Amino acid sequence: MIMPIAFVDLKRQFQALENEIRSAIDGVLDHTQFIMGPELGQFEEALAEYVGVKHAIGCSSGTDALLIPLMTQGLKSGDAVFTSTFTFIATAEVISFLGATPVFVDIDPVTFNLDPVLLKETVEKTKREGKLTPWAVIPVDMFGLPADYEAIQNVADEYGLFVLEDAAQSFGGTRGGRKAGNFGNVAATSFFPAKSLGAYGDGGAVFTNDDDLAAQARSILFHGKGDHKYENVRIGINGRLDTLHAAILLAKLAAFPDELKKRREAADKYTEGLKDYVATPAIPDGCSSACTYYSVMTGNREAVLDGLKSAGIPTAIYYPKPLHLQKAFSRLDYQAGDFPVSESASERIFSLPMHPYLYDEEIDFIIEQVKASV
Ligand SMILES: *Cc1c(COP(=O)(O)O)cnc(C)c1O
Repeated sequence: MIMPIAFVDLKRQFQALENEIRSAIDGVLDHTQFIMGPELGQFEEALAEYVGVKHAIGCSSGTDALLIPLMTQGLKSGDAVFTSTFTFIATAEVISFLGATPVFVDIDPVTFNLDPVLLKETVEKTKREGKLTPWAVIPVDMFGLPADYEAIQNVADEYGLFVLEDAAQSFGGTRGGRKAGNFGNVAATSFFPAKSLGAYGDGGAVFTNDDDLAAQARSILFHGKGDHKYENVRIGINGRLDTLHAAILLAKLAAFPDELKKRREAADKYTEGLKDYVATPAIPDGCSSACTYYSVMTGNREAVLDGLKSAGIPTAIYYPKPLHLQKAFSRLDYQAGDFPVSESASERIFSLPMHPYLYDEEIDFIIEQVKASV
């Protein structure tokens, strides 16, 4: 039997929210303020309230949301920024882009998030070697689960590291009652269409409680503007969030709590059905995941992926190659074997369809197909 299932079903979501989304788009077409229109400010206010931070700043992508906070702090050549090797390229790309050096750290084998013990060891080692200045850490909230910020913040405090939370996958996740996007000095999220809150194109946001950082970020994303847009006080970028995306996201944010609940129900159903067959996600006490991706591990990945494919079920691999083995970072001279937990995860991990509009029959079918092929 074949059941064609979408990995992320944006059509089904559009059908469910069609009236709200069309009227949001129409509102923008009526006033035509496509850049910095009123919906942007409304969306930023709603975002800040949802995350529980003072400032939410819309920007053009999750990548720019990572880049802009680093630019506010004057990150430069000779600075070391610690981050996990098991993440999307953007997390480390922005470090290199600014001329600083990504220093990779291995992950916890259960949560896939930065291992705080290894972080401390790596910071110590970097200090001892004396070539780079330990400067910042970018923990990543992998698949939707916030990283271990209590332990990471302790290391950051000890060594004076700036903390930038990569919350690109975790919008909606929580840890100790705090929402993802509310950890560290500043956080970045992504509204790439497949993320938990997705735009109809690229988008992202910066979250912070730091007034000064927020003001600088708003200047940087608008070509380093001062009091006036043709008064340029620093080097910036064109990093704004379009009004259309803000309007669409504002409409989607209203449905987000209910969608998040449905994602979690789907994840629970998967875990219940699959926990004896593959390694299912473990959510530490006091945490909840945004369930952006539902990833499992098996030693028999190829057979399972083949089995699912022939049943019409799409899968994805996040991530088939850790960053320290990517050609883009070959200059950093890492070797296979340097980060065994990430390397092993990249050989065994895969993700199942995950979105709020999965039908129970679809989840059951997927579970049966995984069981039949492991
Ligand atoms: C998606 C993603 C990004 C980048 O976001 P874009 O909006 O695609 O630029 C950064 N980090 C992680 C962990 C991501 O998953």
